[in-house]
Amino acid sequence: MKAADFVYIRATSVAEAVNHLSEYGGESRIIAGGQSLMPMLNMRLWRLSALIDVNRVPGLDRLEASGEETVAGAMLRHAALERSSLAAERLPLLATMIGFVGDRQVRNRGTIGGSLVQGDPTGEMPLGCLVLGARVRAHGPDGAREIPIESFYEGSYATALQFDEMLTEIVFPKHPQHFAFAEFSRRHGDFCVLSVAATGNRSSDGRWQGVRLGLGGVNDTPVLAGEAAARLEGSLLTDDDIAAAAQAALEVVDPASDIRASAEYRTHLVPVYVRRTLQKLRAHPQLDRKTGRSDR
Ligand SMILES: Cc1cc2nc3c(=O)[nH]c(=O)nc-3n(C[C@H](O)[C@H](O)[C@H](O)COP(=O)(O)OP(=O)(O)OC[C@H]3O[C@@H](n4cnc5c(N)ncnc54)[C@H](O)[C@@H]3O)c2cc1C
Repeated sequence: MKAADFVYIRATSVAEAVNHLSEYGGESRIIAGGQSLMPMLNMRLWRLSALIDVNRVPGLDRLEASGEETVAGAMLRHAALERSSLAAERLPLLATMIGFVGDRQVRNRGTIGGSLVQGDPTGEMPLGCLVLGARVRAHGPDGAREIPIESFYEGSYATALQFDEMLTEIVFPKHPQHFAFAEFSRRHGDFCVLSVAATGNRSSDGRWQGVRLGLGGVNDTPVLAGEAAARLEGSLLTDDDIAAAAQAALEVVDPASDIRASAEYRTHLVPVYVRRTLQKLRAHPQLDRKTGRSDR
C-alpha cells in the first residue's frame, strides 16, 4: 500500500517547522528519518494532511560537549552516534545500545529524536535516555521548554509533546562510570522482547552509588525499576544483592502479549535479564573518560 495524499513541506528553520505544525492543527507531523513514520503512513495506520521535513534545518544533527553535559541534536542519525568518538567517550551506554537498533540501513536514516518521539516501548534510545536521566528540549509557538525524560512518556507511543511542538535537543548529564546493557530479541536487530540497562558508580571501598536500572518492552513505556535500584545503594552488588534486585524489578513490570512474546514469557525473562545486566555492571571496569572504553 502507499500513503494517502499529503502536502510535503521542507522547513529551513525550527521556527518555520513549528509554524507549519500550528497551521495544520494536529494534522501534520515532522518527518525525520522516516523509518517509523513512513511505514505507518504506507500501511494507512495514519493519515496526515502534511509532512514537515526538517532534514535540511541546519545544526540539528550535532553532538557536542557542554561542560559536564553532552547535547545531541534531534536529527543526529543513529549511524553518526554509532561512529562518533565523542559518543564513545561521553555516552558509551547509548553508543553500545545503538548497535541493537534495526539494521545498518535503518541506522543510516533513523534519528535519535525520531526514536524518542516515536516512543516505542521496546526502543533502545528511549530506554537509554531514561537510564541516563536525559532531558529533552522542545520548541513550540511559545518558545522552548525542557522536559525530563522521566515525564516525557505518557503511554504507549505517547509523549508529552504538544501537536505544535518539535523536539530539538537531548541533554545528557555526566555519564556514570559503569554501565551495562542486555536484551533479548528473536534475531539481532529485531525489535526486542525485553531489554535492561543499568548504570552506577563504585566508590573506592567497592560500594555502589546511584545505580539506575531501566527496562524496555515490559510496560507501555520504558520504566525505571526504582525500588530495585534503591536496594543496591551502598551495596557490594553481591550475588544476593543482585538476586533481591532482580525480584524487586518485577514491581514495575506489566507486559503485553504480542507477536514477539507472551506477557508470561516476558515476566519470566525479567529477573533473568536483570540479573545478567547487574552481573555485567559489577564486572564492568572503570571507564577511561577519554575513550569511553574500559581498561580491560
Ligand atoms: C526494519 C526496521 C527495524 C527497526 N528496528 C528497530 C529496533 O530494533 N529498535 C528501535 O529502537 N527502533 C527500530 N526501528 C525504528 C527506527 O529506530 C526509527 O528510525 C526510529 O524509531 C524513528 O526515527 P526516525 O528518525 O526515522 O523518525 P520518523 O520515522 O521520521 O518519525 C517518527 C515519529 O517521530 C516524530 N518526530 C521525528 N522527529 C521529530 C522531532 N524532531 N520533533 C517532533 N517529532 C518528531 C514523527 O513525526 C513521527 O511521529 C526500526 C525500523 C525499521 C524500519
